[in-house]
Amino acid sequence: MSCIFCKIAEAEIPAKVVYEDDTVLAFLDIKPINPGHVLVIPKDHAESLAEISPEHLKCVAAAGRKVAEALRQALSSKCEGVNLFLADGKAAGQEVGHIHLHVIPRYPGDGFGLKFPTHYGNIPQDETDAVHKKLRSLLED
Ligand code: 5GP
Ligand code: ZN
Repeated sequence: MSCIFCKIAEAEIPAKVVYEDDTVLAFLDIKPINPGHVLVIPKDHAESLAEISPEHLKCVAAAGRKVAEALRQALSSKCEGVNLFLADGKAAGQEVGHIHLHVIPRYPGDGFGLKFPTHYGNIPQDETDAVHKKLRSLLED
């Protein structure tokens, strides 16, 4: 097995685990954006949103919420907000090919943030309308 997060799930390599149940494992990120930065993974290997089962994704989200609540208590005034972040695919910033939810404690002025592109606020209306139409037809029951 070559997947680093599978190895962590199997306790083949060490990690600072903060939460575990039958389906998910949550552990500290080795290179935290802020202290307390946690990753939540499904124990079963899935690379992407397309691969993970809806049930396992629900468990990941529920564990992410638990961890976020615990971070707010653990870090008290230092944790004024939390980001949940999931990168699905390389273009979205995914580096490890085993799906994971980042739970990142945030405070004002911590220097972390998403960078907005130059076209932000200037997407042509016809592009927006076209994607709206396609999504509505793909997602309708
Ligand atoms: P991504 O960029 O794929 O969304 O995030 C991958 C995250 O995994 C990074 O924040 C990185 O620091 C973390 N990471 C990579 N390898 C390891 C590891 O071996 N152990 C732990 N605890 N975190 C890791
Ligand atoms: Zn894996």
